[in-house]
Amino acid sequence: MAEGKKKKKEKEPDITFFHPDLLEVPEDGSPPYLKGYKCKKCGKLDFPKLSPCPTCWGEEFEMIPLSRKGILYSFADIYIGQPGMDTPYIVGYIDLPEEIRIFAQLDGEVESFKCDEEVELTTGPIRMNQDGLPIISYKFKKVSA
Ligand SMILES: [Zn+2]
Repeated sequence: MAEGKKKKKEKEPDITFFHPDLLEVPEDGSPPYLKGYKCKKCGKLDFPKLSPCPTCWGEEFEMIPLSRKGILYSFADIYIGQPGMDTPYIVGYIDLPEEIRIFAQLDGEVESFKCDEEVELTTGPIRMNQDGLPIISYKFKKVSA
């Protein structure tokens, strides 16, 4: 009997969305959305969540689903990245109608984005974990025409 041959368990892909406070992916298949947090005391909306509220030090918040589309304010193509990140990749600032500016990776080809164009939320791998498996989180992509 060959006992020494233990089958290595194949690892499940790591599809854990990191920062569950930031991103909601509904199980019913409806589109993902980012979570803004509105201070119950002064009404200031922040993303990501800042606690206590930087305006009034309030500590109670209401979760507000943020718009899935926004306007690309600025972006940069990154050719020398951090470990675990395939280059080139693109990062940018997206202005949402809620008057929140989101920093995120952009999903698409380098040199294909333009400032002031509309982008929408998507999800995808943003980097690899220590085992070389993709970590999925939010990104923004061009609005498909
Ligand atoms: Zn506040």
